[in-house]
Amino acid sequence: MIKAVSFDLDGTLINEKIDEIFWFEEIPKLAARTHKISYESAKKNAMEKYEEADRQEKDISWYGTEKWERFFNIKIEAEKMIKEIKERMEKNSENIIFPETLLVLKELKKRNIKLILITHSTNEFLKTKMEMTGIAQYFNLIISTISDMKSIKNDECYKEICRKNNLSPSEILHIGDSINYDVEMPKRAGMNCLLIDRKKYTPNSIENLKEVLKLV
Ligand SMILES: [Mg+2]
Repeated sequence: MIKAVSFDLDGTLINEKIDEIFWFEEIPKLAARTHKISYESAKKNAMEKYEEADRQEKDISWYGTEKWERFFNIKIEAEKMIKEIKERMEKNSENIIFPETLLVLKELKKRNIKLILITHSTNEFLKTKMEMTGIAQYFNLIISTISDMKSIKNDECYKEICRKNNLSPSEILHIGDSINYDVEMPKRAGMNCLLIDRKKYTPNSIENLKEVLKLV
């Protein structure tokens, strides 16, 4: 019996707009200003560095800003930058939440399902994402594995979350958009898992979170 549902955040409950603007626009802008080079060349350099790092195995440094401060030789004031992105988006009445997210969280809550958020988003990003969407109130537990557990979402990490919350892995259904971090890893920990693919290209995946309501 499913007692708890855990969700990934980015690409699952909300879109990735904040991260995209931060990493693909604001970081190159900052590098361009700092080193007095054009935005275009700073952007090209940043994209190359991201791709290079992406080819290596990801560790927690990938998600924080320190590694990138060193890579680009810049000073990143992440909280301030994220807040500015939020304010700009709000001015344009843009939100990051997917259309069905609130309805699904509310309905699961009504059914007395324990809700857990398990994300790679670091606390600086997480704070703004929660403020923008107001979804924090639905969760019994919110964990940034990077900030709170100093770990990427691996099997050990999922096992520990189960242990600490007195849940057997088989009592949890995890939903996320990464085959590795949201399917393979929780599966290794003995959890039930479900891939969300909003483009519907992957077999055995769901396209919309509403489908979760049929399963629990
Ligand atoms: Mg994700």
